[in-house]
Amino acid sequence: MDTRSETARRLLDGQRHDVSQPVGSEKCISWLAVLMVRLDTASRRATLMSMTTTSSDLPRLIPNGTCWCGCGAEVGRGAFFTRGHDKVAEGALLAARYGGSVAQLLEHHGFGPHRSVGQAAVDAGAWEKCLSCTYLGTPSSVRNHRGKAEH
Ligand SMILES: [Zn+2]
Ligand SMILES: [Zn+2]
Repeated sequence: MDTRSETARRLLDGQRHDVSQPVGSEKCISWLAVLMVRLDTASRRATLMSMTTTSSDLPRLIPNGTCWCGCGAEVGRGAFFTRGHDKVAEGALLAARYGGSVAQLLEHHGFGPHRSVGQAAVDAGAWEKCLSCTYLGTPSSVRNHRGKAEH
């Protein structure tokens, strides 16, 4: 076991009471709303990472060794989900609360054709705007887009 994971474990033991943010809570759903709009895994992961460091109103979540989808599986230190179960949980939340409809999810949070959820992600400091077109995405996604679009 390396020093870093040992530190993480101690941190986790000391803060076990913090690992109780209920799935489906308002904050959890608001956070997921931002994640839902882009489909590629890299963007979602980058969004998640930037959201955890830039959104000070969100609780700090600490993985506790059990998959957060609720399946009961053990997961590696530092991970919230076993492989693919983040998607399972996302789909389940959407199904349980929004009839499986992303449009319903957006409407519920005041977003839609006249209020851009992508712009909200930019305003939150998690996403960036392409300087040459209307493309919005995580910093790495925008870099990738600019390379492909050659602008
Ligand atoms: Zn799971
Ligand atoms: Zn562009």
